[in-house]
Amino acid sequence: MPETRRANPLGVHALVWTGSWTAADARSACAATAAAGYDLIEVPLLDPAEVDAAMTREVLEATGLGATCSLGLAPETDISSEDPAVVERGARLLHAALEVAAGIGSGYLGGVLYSAMAKYTEQPTARGRANSVAVLRDLAREARARGVVIGLEAVNRYESNLVNTVHDSLGHIDAIGAENVVVHLDTYHANIEEGDLAAAVRQAHDAGRLGYVHVGESHRGHLGTGSIAWDPFFDALTEVGYAGPIVFESFSSAVVSARFAGALAIWRNLWDDSAELAAHAHAFICDHLSRRHEEA
Ligand code: MN
Repeated sequence: MPETRRANPLGVHALVWTGSWTAADARSACAATAAAGYDLIEVPLLDPAEVDAAMTREVLEATGLGATCSLGLAPETDISSEDPAVVERGARLLHAALEVAAGIGSGYLGGVLYSAMAKYTEQPTARGRANSVAVLRDLAREARARGVVIGLEAVNRYESNLVNTVHDSLGHIDAIGAENVVVHLDTYHANIEEGDLAAAVRQAHDAGRLGYVHVGESHRGHLGTGSIAWDPFFDALTEVGYAGPIVFESFSSAVVSARFAGALAIWRNLWDDSAELAAHAHAFICDHLSRRHEEA
């Protein structure tokens, strides 16, 4: 058997550390991310104007970290709306986020970019779907010029009505028709919506579109303390030779961001100690990738 050496960049979502992004927040979050052994931090861009790209880039360089970026649209910036004014606001927000992502040196912008990150009470409409595709096609073209990959994160039915599964994500990607748009697979969401996590990994891979992975537990707390079937999931990532980022995502009411708490229903305190949580997740991921923590 050939020796396989995986080189997935490992990351952690900034909301493990902080719900805001002042220079002091950025410095402490990046220092803690590096100290926990990660290669990158995922910086949320729900409001791109709140993220100072030059400051962030400086902090990243000082801590030796890479970065990725993510966001979810809001109802007032929902590009899957039928209202042209709402779609236009969403398009402007996405382009502003792309600007910040490129400005901090991130090669990735993903998340719920295709609709609002919110509970819907109706099916998407054909016109809304077409609006979403058109805006993302434009965004992907601009992103390509800036060397940024766009990721469509499949989220559970309570957080969007448009892309809930890898199948949905691939369908939207096909409609967009751009090379630099990938499936962003999140175990927390897939555990709700997919019948089989390993099959979901293979489906995205076989389509040539598996580009980004969030690992989150079924309750979004400590990895290994919920009901996610981790072994088959990591086996599948290994089998398909996935070498892209693996980013730990966890939310607790201990770290507050009003926007996230409301959209993601973060009502419970699942942990208090960010450093312990992040170190635990890093060890958990490395163990499951059969990789030793080289800095230890
Ligand atoms: Mn996620």
